[in-house]
Amino acid sequence: MIEISHLVKTYGGHYAVKDLSATIRDGRIYGFLGPNGAGKSTTMNIITGYLAPTAGEVKIDGHDIMKEPEAAKQEIGYLPEVPPLYQDMTVEEYLRFAARLKRVPAGRLAGEVERCTKLAGLEEVKRRLIANLSKGYKQRVGLAQAVLGEPRTIILDEPTVGLDPKQMIEMRELIRSLGRKHTVILSSHILSEVSAVCDEILIISRGELVASDTPQGLAEKRKGALALKLSVRGSREALEETLRNLPGAERFSVRQEKEETVAEIHESAGQDIREPLFYALAEKKMPILSMERSGESLEEIFLQLTEKTGEEERR
Ligand code: ADP
Ligand code: MG
Repeated sequence: MIEISHLVKTYGGHYAVKDLSATIRDGRIYGFLGPNGAGKSTTMNIITGYLAPTAGEVKIDGHDIMKEPEAAKQEIGYLPEVPPLYQDMTVEEYLRFAARLKRVPAGRLAGEVERCTKLAGLEEVKRRLIANLSKGYKQRVGLAQAVLGEPRTIILDEPTVGLDPKQMIEMRELIRSLGRKHTVILSSHILSEVSAVCDEILIISRGELVASDTPQGLAEKRKGALALKLSVRGSREALEETLRNLPGAERFSVRQEKEETVAEIHESAGQDIREPLFYALAEKKMPILSMERSGESLEEIFLQLTEKTGEEERR
């Protein structure tokens, strides 16, 4: 278990991480989700002992990462944003070197390197120089390095950045399989990615934890916050009347934009009004020009999650 309590990191007067607390339980896959500059890498660098916090503490299975770094680090394998790979070593040489650094006992070293080579799908390239590998394979070498010595927790900073779609899918599958034996923490700025891979999502915005939930829980929250954007041909009054008579259209605002009449509609919880809306408008001979759900982008979700408390109070 990892306990992060009231973590703060400042640079000059600027907060990179601001009073961040979280508990990471064993055997689950956690995703740190947030845009660039949110503080994901800083948090990971502190958890792994690469960076000292300004305030707060991190305990890995009860060991304070600052006071007992050796014991704490033993439990963690880390793939930083920029993996520290030695370009002029072969994959095999590098993994042996990394295993020695991690104090894998000499008698187990060859076997452990082989296990991680296999696990990361590196058998075919193990005699090649790291410099000559594709970005996808380099990332796998970084992953193999993180898994050496079977640490209980594996921390991966943006493991799919810069990969092509096929490599991305392979990396996700690898991460999922790691989750069967290890606790995994990964960071990403892609919502669909963390939703697909993680059991728990921690949303970080400007150094603060703004939400922590399962992908299902988060999807539920998003649904309530989504709005339907509609554009039709027809009068404003006619559209307003249609919406007033449509069950499930909880709140709406309608305005005229040149030739189009535009509405933003909030649906009642759990309702999908798109079909009845289509038929109601067809009946009134009001063609739909466009219809889309807003709130799909990460930025909008952040806004909704951070503003949600205020909105609930207003209702
Ligand atoms: P993320 O990984 O989510 O993109 P980072 O943790 O890298 O975010 O950065 C968080 C904030 O801290 C950013 O505003 C970044 O500019 C700042 N920051 C990170 N490292 C340093 C540093 N060494 N010196 C000054 N500011 C930094
Ligand atoms: Mg980062």
